Amino acid sequence: MKRLLLTLGFSVALLVTLAYAAFRFSPAVQDAVVARAVRAQMSRTNQLPLDDSALRVLLCGTSSPMPLRASAKACTLVAAGKKMFLIDIGPESTENLTLWRIPLADIEHVFLTHFHSDHIGELGEFNMQGWVQGRRVPLQVHGPDGVEQVVAGFNEAYALDRTYRNAHHDRGRGLLPLAAGAMTAQRITDLKAGEIPQGRRTVVYDRDGVVVTAIEVDHRPVTPALAYRFDYRGRSVVITGDTVFFAPLIAAIRGADVLVSEAESHHLQNLVADQVVAMGAKNLATVLRDTTDYHIDPVQAARLANEAAVSELVYTHIAPPIVAKPLEIPWLRGVSNIRAQGVRLGRDGMLITVPLDGGPIRFDQL
Ligand SMILES: [Zn+2]
Ligand SMILES: [Zn+2]
Repeated sequence: MKRLLLTLGFSVALLVTLAYAAFRFSPAVQDAVVARAVRAQMSRTNQLPLDDSALRVLLCGTSSPMPLRASAKACTLVAAGKKMFLIDIGPESTENLTLWRIPLADIEHVFLTHFHSDHIGELGEFNMQGWVQGRRVPLQVHGPDGVEQVVAGFNEAYALDRTYRNAHHDRGRGLLPLAAGAMTAQRITDLKAGEIPQGRRTVVYDRDGVVVTAIEVDHRPVTPALAYRFDYRGRSVVITGDTVFFAPLIAAIRGADVLVSEAESHHLQNLVADQVVAMGAKNLATVLRDTTDYHIDPVQAARLANEAAVSELVYTHIAPPIVAKPLEIPWLRGVSNIRAQGVRLGRDGMLITVPLDGGPIRFDQL
């Protein structure tokens, strides 16, 4: 037996050595391996099911402005049947969508909650990638007062890029038409900048059974800042954007199947600020502490979900970043006392399926 194992081990080692030698010294073998890898990569298909059986939410970015490897900043994709919508497009999120093989060219609408950089940082990149992938209409960017300025700025910054790509690849072949390359701003006119938020609501999209309602939230001094509610054939999801606990939200999100809520653990944020002060970075500590007065704490978000009778609460925009699994415990401190079930931490790639036949909500990971 021992001899057999030894012979087997020797044979395997010999085969591995021969294979490595073949790869190392034969260009033909190298090219064959590369060709195989390309085919394997290209044959991977869109991992987000797009059929008419469910309303779906895919978390394409769940971190706050503080850096966290493997986690993009604010981005949520809602798919109502076959139609996809993006809510915010923070830094690193386009790469997530691309790696999951989401057909970017089929996303024609982005809804911005507000214009902090962690929510808009990749608007230009996402627009360019969707255009290169084949979108033939301008990307529609919906947002509150100020959206024209943001969209015009990104359009301007990417103007030369568009002309280079058009000149190089289009050449009359209709591959990258300039008319589809620049974004169009759709300002939500009923909500005015500078006004004290009152939870005003306005329907901003109503087509093919999909109703999107913008809801004013309180993220002052950012005004207006918006949450978005998606209703589709009797099921609904809400994305809060950035906000404090804001009582008018309760009525606006009542009965939603899924509430994707931002959250910042205030006690951990203050603890981080204390350590930062101790290390001499006073200004950074002040900025960190300031943020607790315009973000909702996980316990407050759980209260909001309870009072609005929401089925599932999912945390996103997680601050401070949870850098190791055990740190979920202090981050979630106090949540289970008021909401024992129907609450979970979001992660990049979390797919939430809300079946249209009324079946239970499912959670998967791409
Ligand atoms: Zn913000
Ligand atoms: Zn934010």
